[in-house]
Amino acid sequence: MFSCERIDNDTISRQLHFDSEHLWHPYAALKNTPARFLAVSARGTTIRTAEGLELIDAVSSWWCAAHGHNAPEIVEAIRRQSDRMCHVMFGGFTHEPAIELGQRLVEFLPEGLNKIFFADSGSIAVECAVKMAVQYQYALGRPERCKLVALRGGYHGDTAGAMALSDPDGMHVLFRGIMPQHYFAGRPNCRFDDTWDDADFHSMEQVIEEHLNEIAAVICEPVFQGGNGMWLYHPNYLKSLREICDRHGILLILDEIASGFYRTGPRFAMEHAGILPDIMCIGKALTGGSITLAAAAASERVARTITESKIPAFMHGPTYMANPLACAAGVASLNLFSTRDYLTNVRRIEARLRQNLAPLRSLENTADVRVLGAIGVLELKSKPAADDILRIIRETGVWLRPFCNYVYTMPPLITADAEIDRICEAIRLIAQCEPMPVQEKDDFHE
Ligand code: PMP
Repeated sequence: MFSCERIDNDTISRQLHFDSEHLWHPYAALKNTPARFLAVSARGTTIRTAEGLELIDAVSSWWCAAHGHNAPEIVEAIRRQSDRMCHVMFGGFTHEPAIELGQRLVEFLPEGLNKIFFADSGSIAVECAVKMAVQYQYALGRPERCKLVALRGGYHGDTAGAMALSDPDGMHVLFRGIMPQHYFAGRPNCRFDDTWDDADFHSMEQVIEEHLNEIAAVICEPVFQGGNGMWLYHPNYLKSLREICDRHGILLILDEIASGFYRTGPRFAMEHAGILPDIMCIGKALTGGSITLAAAAASERVARTITESKIPAFMHGPTYMANPLACAAGVASLNLFSTRDYLTNVRRIEARLRQNLAPLRSLENTADVRVLGAIGVLELKSKPAADDILRIIRETGVWLRPFCNYVYTMPPLITADAEIDRICEAIRLIAQCEPMPVQEKDDFHE
C-alpha cells in the first residue's frame, strides 16, 4: 500500500483514524490532535505526504537528517549490509560495520576521545556517559562521587537518568519522583557573541564548591541548549568549566547529540571554546537521519581507569548494541561528513538565516532572534495556535515544529538558499499569527 506515493482519501482517513486510536506519538495525546500528516517518502530536503504535499523539512526530522533524507550512499550501505547480516549480538561477537564505524569515529571525533560505546539512542548514550563517570570515580576509590551537575535550561533525553539531568523545571517535572537527584547550576546567560562576563560562571562555581565530594561529573550541551530552550551561550563558559573540572578531579561530559556534525559551524560545538571533554555523546546526525544509533566516546584516561579497576567491565549492554545496519549507515554518513564541505555550506546557511531572520526582530510578537550555524530561532512573546501552524505548513510547503514559544529551523546541511528563504517566510508568517491568549499545557514539542 505504501509503495505508491499517492493514496486515495478514504485510505488516508482510515489510516489516520487507526493511528489516532492506537499509536502514541512523541509529546502528544493519543488522539490525533493536532492533525498528523501521513508521510510516504522523503528525499533530500523534502518529505512527501499521502495527500500529495511536498514539505521542506526545516527541522531535519528533529535534527538528524543532516545530509537530507535518504542519501543514496546511506540507503545503499544499509541495503548491502542487510543482504549479509541484519544483526548479531555484540556480546561475544564483533563485526566489520562496528569496527569500520569505530575506525571512522576515532579519526573524526576530537582528539583522544577514542574509546567508543555504541548506544541505541541519544538518551541511552547519555545514560552510558553518566555510568562511565560514576564507574571512573568508583575505580579511583571515590564511590561517594555519584552525583552530576547539569545546567538549567538543558536537555539530555527522556529516560529517567537523562531526564534527571535536563532542566528541572522543564517538560519532565511530572516525573521528579522517579528521577535520581543531581545538582543544577543556573543557565549561562551570557550570549554567544556578547562580551564574556566572569559572573556568568559564579553559579556553577558555587554548586561545585558546595558539593565537591559528591560530584562525579558535569554534563552540558556545549554552546547550544536545544530541546529545552533553543539558547546559545558564550564559549568562554566552557573554558571555565574545563578548568574547574580539572582542578577538582571532576569529569566533563559534553552532550553533542544536537550540536555535533557541523550544526553550529565547526564539526563539534566544543571547538568554539577550544576544549576537550572526558566523555562526549553523539547521536542524531551520526547515521544521517536513517536509523537510530548514538555513542558515548571516552578518553583514554577514563577508559583505562575503569579497565584497570576492581570492576573492569563497563556495566551496560543493550540487546541491539552496535546493530550492523545502523553501523553501516553510520560509516556511509561519516563518509559524507568527511568528503563534503559542510563548513562552507553551514556558513552560507548561517548568513542567509541572519539576513532573513534579523528583520523579524521588529515584529510585535518577537521576543528574540538567535542564529548560529544552521540553527535559526525566533523566540516569541506568546506561542502561536496549533491550527495556524498547520495552515501555514500547508500553505508554504515548509515543515516546522515549533515548541513552547520557539519557532526554529535546523535544516538539512544541504538546504539551498531559495529553500532557506521559504523556511524564513514560513517562520515570519507564524510569528505574525494572532498569539494564543494563554499557554497550553501540552506545549512541549521538542
Ligand atoms: N541530548 C540532546 C542534546 C538532545 O538534543 C537529544 C534529543 N533531542 C537527546 C540527548 C536524546 O536523544 P534521543 O532522542 O535520541 O534519545
